[in-house]
Amino acid sequence: MNPNTVIVRLGELTLKGRNRHRFEKRVLQQLQPLREQYPNTGISLEFGRIHIDLQETPYEAAAEVLDKIFGLASYSPAHRVSLELEDIREKALELMRELESPEGKRTFKVAAKRSNKKYPHDSMALMQLVGGHILRHTQGWLVDVHHPEVTLWVDIRDKEAFVFTDIVPGSGGYPLGTNGKGMLLLSGGIDSPVAGWLSMRMGLEIEAVHFHSYPYTSERAKRKVEDLARELARYSGTLKLHMVPFTDIQVKLKEQGRENLLVICMKRAMLRIAEQLAERRSAKALITGESLGQVASQTLASLDVIGRAAQIPVLRPLITMDKGEIVKVSEKIGTFPISIQPYEDCCTLFLPKSPSTNPSIRTVEKVEAMIPGLDELIRLAVEGTETQVIEAGQSARELDELF
Ligand code: ATP
Ligand code: MG
Repeated sequence: MNPNTVIVRLGELTLKGRNRHRFEKRVLQQLQPLREQYPNTGISLEFGRIHIDLQETPYEAAAEVLDKIFGLASYSPAHRVSLELEDIREKALELMRELESPEGKRTFKVAAKRSNKKYPHDSMALMQLVGGHILRHTQGWLVDVHHPEVTLWVDIRDKEAFVFTDIVPGSGGYPLGTNGKGMLLLSGGIDSPVAGWLSMRMGLEIEAVHFHSYPYTSERAKRKVEDLARELARYSGTLKLHMVPFTDIQVKLKEQGRENLLVICMKRAMLRIAEQLAERRSAKALITGESLGQVASQTLASLDVIGRAAQIPVLRPLITMDKGEIVKVSEKIGTFPISIQPYEDCCTLFLPKSPSTNPSIRTVEKVEAMIPGLDELIRLAVEGTETQVIEAGQSARELDELF
């Protein structure tokens, strides 16, 4: 039996205070694609939750959209019925018949919630009236109020009632964009797409920047990053991807001879460029996929020296996660299979044999000061940046007008 409604619950904490209206509006906007695909879908806001009236919309299509919206506490496929007790009982019975098992008796309880205080039956009475009806008309159910296999929810509202058995956890966090915008440094690896997703989940709108060393890195490596951006775009609709030509800077940094500081200097140049792009795009933070201790450039001392290249905050959502935890998220969000395709990153190409794990900011700044024209090269890289708009499920569209 197909549900005719989906009850969507926004996170209770996020609903407190002045943010409430803004958050609800954002979630409603993110449901629009569902209505574009299925124009008869009804979407309404009802006291801290959203009701999706499915009409011809398959529940699975709604669930697919809901799973990509941040800031939801949970949602339930539900059956909307009239307030007549007979209607409620019949729908509940139909639902419980479907869940009966041929292998033996299952346990259930009825949980009634009554926000309509004028309703003639209170919650206790409803539990008995509905539960008793099910016990009388089925063979396969026993009541267990403490550890039931199935909870049958009966939710009495002002003008209608809902009957359901499933509460699907939402992805949590805050609605996309309700906490501002960040610029994600997106490589082709496993970590940075996860950092991007976690940032979006915490309510940040993101744009992505990728540094390529064409022709040392291939066209295919670029395409891989576009593919990763497209996966992330499934959560935001579209994603702007800024492609920065990084070859000249890398060659210059390599020439200065301090091999052990090369990666640190490269990362600092990346942050400086990303910061300028962030300023132009009104992003208030940079986001990286760095986590503690994975490689030489991710010791606390290295992160310190790298981070000092930028004035705006550098967010590192993965900082306390180990590789196993990061991989789990990347599998969940769909970026893992793309991330593990072989590719050359501009950093790995120029990798020195013994990178410093304990760089000093004074030495690094001295080395940078000896590189002629570094500021100018950084300016040129920013000017040479090409931007594309990546749309979920579509190929990239070039954008010239942004910078
Ligand atoms: P990832 O799996 O994200 O590549 P990693 O563990 O391989 O991370 P590094 O390669 O040292 O670590 O990169 C650290 C972070 O620096 C990345 O997570 C990313 O945010 C940024 N970064 C590295 N290379 C690039 C690049 N070519 N373009 C954009 N950002 C990059
Ligand atoms: Mg990497």
